[in-house]
Amino acid sequence: MTEHIFNFPAPFAKSSKKTVIPVYFISASDFPKWIKKQNKSLIAQAYQANFIGQAKQALSIVDAKAAPIKILAGIKDPAYYLDSASVVQHIQNSYGKDFINDHVFEIISDHEEDILNKICLGWGMAAYKFDVYKKNDKAFPTLLWPAKALPKEVTAKLEAVSLLRNLVNTPAADLGTDELADVAKDLAKKHKAKVKIFDDGDLKKKNFPMIYAVGKASPRRPQLVDLKWKSNTKKSKPAKVTIVGKGVVYDTGGLNLKPGQYMRDMKKDMGGAAHALAVAHMIMALNLPIELRVLLPIAENAVAGNSYRPGDILNSRKGITVEICDTDAEGRLIVADALTYACEEKPDLLVDFCTLTGAARVAVGYDIPAFFSNDDDILDDLRHSSVIVDDPVWPFPLWDGYDSNLNGSISDIKNEGTGRAGHIEAALFLQRFIDKKTDWIHLDCYAWQNSDIPGRPQGGADTGARAIFDFIRKRYG
Ligand SMILES: [Zn+2]
Repeated sequence: MTEHIFNFPAPFAKSSKKTVIPVYFISASDFPKWIKKQNKSLIAQAYQANFIGQAKQALSIVDAKAAPIKILAGIKDPAYYLDSASVVQHIQNSYGKDFINDHVFEIISDHEEDILNKICLGWGMAAYKFDVYKKNDKAFPTLLWPAKALPKEVTAKLEAVSLLRNLVNTPAADLGTDELADVAKDLAKKHKAKVKIFDDGDLKKKNFPMIYAVGKASPRRPQLVDLKWKSNTKKSKPAKVTIVGKGVVYDTGGLNLKPGQYMRDMKKDMGGAAHALAVAHMIMALNLPIELRVLLPIAENAVAGNSYRPGDILNSRKGITVEICDTDAEGRLIVADALTYACEEKPDLLVDFCTLTGAARVAVGYDIPAFFSNDDDILDDLRHSSVIVDDPVWPFPLWDGYDSNLNGSISDIKNEGTGRAGHIEAALFLQRFIDKKTDWIHLDCYAWQNSDIPGRPQGGADTGARAIFDFIRKRYG
């Protein structure tokens, strides 16, 4: 049941014979000057509606017969990518299906290319719908590509976000370990990438003991996806970038079973893998001049007689022994084996995405992934990228003083620290498996939107994928 995963409603057209309704994007600071140049009717309508160009404001201007002739839309200064999603909402709330289908919309703006791209991105983000299990035939307004925008770039980003949302939104019953690996295979095929799957027999034979241990209790067998792609760049030695994503297709917590309210949304515990595939899609679709590798450790953390237990001591690929304090801290175990494997190839950059800790949510809430790096320049550059593309991430320290909290008494380390600053302790746990010379970024992300806002419907959500893509492009593109 994964045919829908690559569905992407592209609400754009290059040209159209339908009636065009212009949409004027105006910021509050530009508004006073702009309004002076308009006709009396428009000024009166804007005044009456108290439209002043504020973000999220949208107003239809009508002619003498009350037919809409243009739309005014507020835009932040600098522009925010979801400004246009509010306009889409206004159109959908104001007009019926026939009207929306009979018209196309055109951006009127003297903004630069990057802002136009943002406006198109927000418009496309608002087009997303997940209607696999419930019909949704809501009409969606079509936007004409602005001449200065970059359709290929915007489309690649929208496809990536759509892929990510579809993966996270699909219930675990329909997206098990095989299905998630299949999606990675399908993505590889689209981009002529190579993909290798280590099945559970391979995990044992080829030394991925922690991926195997976490996934062994489920009839849906654990596996590791290893996708490799090379840009057809002329660069003689393209940088090697490896992205790892936590793919726990369902997390019951294991024998340390989660209480109901915490298990409720655990179909999203493969959100890290979804992020890794989304970034990979952007990199491959836009042909960044790098060598890309994606590693997805995939498992279901299930309860059965052969579940791994609290008190068990696991060996790891790196040879570090890990005592299990809590079977619900499983993500770091499977990711640790994948990180070890990644480092064996000595990549120039190693990135991992994991829906990992509640502590990260306590620290920065739901919208903002906590991130860590062993390189200070990366901390600054990634945060900068995240601001530029409106995809916030926030840096935290790999504080050495907490590292010994992980030391075991009868094992090398434990899979849980003191529980204070649990996101930092989890990052320090992963750092134990990182080669010191490898530049590394770890993102502890939520991958979920708790409530609807225009352009970000409740459910699976991108948190950090676009920031990482921009960072990689600036560093190597
Ligand atoms: Zn867990």
